Amino acid sequence: MNWHFNSVAVAAALLTVASCGNSVDGPEGTKTLQTDGIRITWIQDNAKERLMERSLFPDASDSLVAGLGLQTGVPSTVSVFLVETGGKKMLFDTGLGMPDSRMLSSLNALGVAPEEIDYLYITHFHGDHIGGMLKDGQPVFTNAKVYASKKEYDAWMAMPDDRKGPVEKALSAYEGRLNLFMSGDTLPGNVLSIDAPGHTPGHTVYKVGDFLIVGDLMHGVALQMEYPEICASYDMDFPAAVSARKEVLKYASDSSLVMAGMHFPAPAFIQAGK
Ligand SMILES: [Zn+2]
Repeated sequence: MNWHFNSVAVAAALLTVASCGNSVDGPEGTKTLQTDGIRITWIQDNAKERLMERSLFPDASDSLVAGLGLQTGVPSTVSVFLVETGGKKMLFDTGLGMPDSRMLSSLNALGVAPEEIDYLYITHFHGDHIGGMLKDGQPVFTNAKVYASKKEYDAWMAMPDDRKGPVEKALSAYEGRLNLFMSGDTLPGNVLSIDAPGHTPGHTVYKVGDFLIVGDLMHGVALQMEYPEICASYDMDFPAAVSARKEVLKYASDSSLVMAGMHFPAPAFIQAGK
């Protein structure tokens, strides 16, 4: 790895992660934090190094990008998070579901079988978040109840067939186990759902204990932590995404939460507000 952060704020935030509760390095591409009866494990799904291309951030000026040393791309991952609390196992998103995806092998290395997942929480319906729900067309998590935002579901079901098709396919494999919630609902495992639209219409952030699982709130942490007004071109509604990013970052900072992000650089935790 030859990338580095020139952003002092981001570097400081990443470093302070080590101070939050107990931190355990597990199998490669995983890291576990534990506080107050909640264990959260970062699992890196992508097998190869992943940089978000500079061109994905059209709002960022060349001088800013150069100043941060990010001309060749912004460090990132595709990540999922396992949360264990109150005797339940929950998985937040499922990664890409590609042949070289590491989600399943890492769960296995952590001693967790897919059928042991009680609840599957989905932040939004992009392929790098729901791709791992299926393997060879079959549901991977055979006992999990699936939770997703009704707003997200309704928006995708109104999209053209080529966009809604993969979503319908993944969700229909979990028929009878899909639970659509209204944002603001508290879900099993004392998981609070928080509406954070913009990246997608029903993009959802989840709070569990002092952890905030932020989905795709930021694709390029090294840029967007300090400059939340910068969008990635993946964001479907730029103004809404900027508002959500600013609001969620302020909430995380005010409450000193540990953020867990699906595209944060490894190990994908950032302590906010310290
Ligand atoms: Zn994503």
